[in-house]
Amino acid sequence: MKSELICITCPMGCRLSISGRPDEPIVEGNKCKRGIAYAKDELTNPIRMICSTVKISGGIHTIVPVKTDRAIPEKYKFQIMKLINGVEVQSPVEMGDVVLENVFDTGVNVVVTRNM
Ligand code: SF4
Repeated sequence: MKSELICITCPMGCRLSISGRPDEPIVEGNKCKRGIAYAKDELTNPIRMICSTVKISGGIHTIVPVKTDRAIPEKYKFQIMKLINGVEVQSPVEMGDVVLENVFDTGVNVVVTRNM
């Protein structure tokens, strides 16, 4: 099996060509070793930052932006969006305030990204 990925580890954005087993991929097109690690992670345990908004009351705005404070395994992305959709906070909030803690026991929090 052969597939292609764009490495997003740095702004170079190398186009990776991948073959071999997912746990031991043969990677071509990478300009450094981090591209190999990125390809392996993408094939075996892809992770993503999640950005969204939650409802806020008591101020002039109705929503406030939030994001995960670290990348979370992609398999949780729909479940975490459901949790985020159920959150409502009270104004004022500060950047970094935690609105969801340790989601799915991953150690990842969802935090506010703007003072509001
Ligand atoms: S392979 Fe290395 S140089 Fe290329 S995008 Fe990834 S981290 Fe950057």
